[in-house]
Amino acid sequence: MTETIPQPRTAAADQTETVSPEDGAPESAKPGLLILAPLRIEANAVRRGLTRSTSRVLHTGMGATRAKRSAEKGTPPSFFGGVAVMGTAASLSDDLHPGDLVVATEVSDGETTVPLLGADLLAAELRRAGLTARAGRLVTVQKLVKSAERGRLAADGYLAADMESAALVAAVKAAGNPVAVIRAVSDGGFGPGIVTGGLAALRSLRKAAPVAEKWAAACRPRTVLLAGPRSFCAGVERAIEIVDRALEMRGAPVYVRKQIVHNTRVVSDLEQRGAIFVDELNEVPDGATVVFSAHGVSPAVRSDASDRGLSVIDATCPLVSKVHAEARRFAKEGYTVALIGHAGHEEVEGTLGEAPDSTVLVQTAEDVDALDVANPSKIAYLMQTTLAIDEAADVAGALRDKFPQMRAPGSDDICYATTNRQAAVRAVAADADMVLVAGSKNSSNSVRLVERSVRAGTPAHLIDGATDIDLSWLTGVDVVGLTAGASAPPAVVSEIIEALTGLGPVTVTERVTTTESVQFGLPREVRR
Ligand code: SF4
Repeated sequence: MTETIPQPRTAAADQTETVSPEDGAPESAKPGLLILAPLRIEANAVRRGLTRSTSRVLHTGMGATRAKRSAEKGTPPSFFGGVAVMGTAASLSDDLHPGDLVVATEVSDGETTVPLLGADLLAAELRRAGLTARAGRLVTVQKLVKSAERGRLAADGYLAADMESAALVAAVKAAGNPVAVIRAVSDGGFGPGIVTGGLAALRSLRKAAPVAEKWAAACRPRTVLLAGPRSFCAGVERAIEIVDRALEMRGAPVYVRKQIVHNTRVVSDLEQRGAIFVDELNEVPDGATVVFSAHGVSPAVRSDASDRGLSVIDATCPLVSKVHAEARRFAKEGYTVALIGHAGHEEVEGTLGEAPDSTVLVQTAEDVDALDVANPSKIAYLMQTTLAIDEAADVAGALRDKFPQMRAPGSDDICYATTNRQAAVRAVAADADMVLVAGSKNSSNSVRLVERSVRAGTPAHLIDGATDIDLSWLTGVDVVGLTAGASAPPAVVSEIIEALTGLGPVTVTERVTTTESVQFGLPREVRR
């Protein structure tokens, strides 16, 4: 059986250059977009979706040789914006359906493979626009795809096949413009499906056109200002290593109460290795190994684990344990402890649990106003380790004004990693147009980095990874500040830089405000 790439055919490329109908796009929409569409029907579908005057469509003609010749003639010689190859393709994967979009992570003609950085970022933007899009490998073939060949290409890891992309990319890459390839799956099988599949593909190409424009508007050479220090702190590294070693030494599954650190990437990596994350101990089978997260637990949880006969490994950060010890000491000496922190955060719940009858949570200066303690001369304060330094200082100041005899912790509770990352992000925010903070939404210290940048007057966005970047954030942005919360892996920072490189040349400059050398020992249960 022979299957074809069901593309409507045209006789020849006509080199028609078309300006989209709406003119007067704002300056921020520049630089422009050049779309290379092999078939006239594909060019027309894309053209119908365009919205900006800076967008052009070049109908290149079908097949590698003709398309390449057209592209070479029609592409501006130097950087002007983004070039997107857009057309239909044959699916090589059973889970792709007519109308689904494939954004190429690389294109290959079987001999030469060209990587296309930032494909995940564009695929995510297409998904946010309501389209079904995947990033993956694309192969350009010379002839229609037969079923036997389809199986072979699929086995090689290709998602889709077309007849022009590799040649088109080769033709335009040399000019230095960022290049993307968006192909819509058109094959719907024989019979009526071949028509409806083609129509679905053309519809998707039309809908993808404004997203390609958004992508092109984000394309430009830019600088990435890296904050240093950033990413993992000593407490997070220790906690992850504890779970790693527990898995290695005791075998899967190893249960972890709460997220070991507040990062979705870290949690999912450990899950794949056999860690099971639970909210409460009643989800842990009797006798199993359970790891307490870096944020700490209350004595009630420890005692519950002991009653249940669970084998506990404690990954509480030593700097959190220090705050717990201070809470116990102050309470024992008869002090009321004002804990400055955020309600509901696991660290705060654990610290409150150390002396629940003697501790009150204060989140704001208004909470301090309303605070009424039995003995105002015996009050002490403590802090959550991951607070914004200036906000926490404001609350501590309000407490001191109201209770002049208030005792302070022996040393700062806001930890070195939080302090250093906040100073570092402030340094890059001063010279950046926009700041990206790698970290999860439930990561307190990562959220504080966003706030720190915004307070410095620079817009900032919290992202778990590159695919969370909304391309509109990058329009008009020459300098991106980049940092990562203490629970975000360094690899995410590299992934973000790589994705930005797909939008134009990137110069990376690191601005180091301090260096860190803190290390914590491991608990005896996982020492070798
Ligand atoms: S942020 Fe600070 S307190 Fe939290 S785990 Fe890292 S070093 Fe410990």
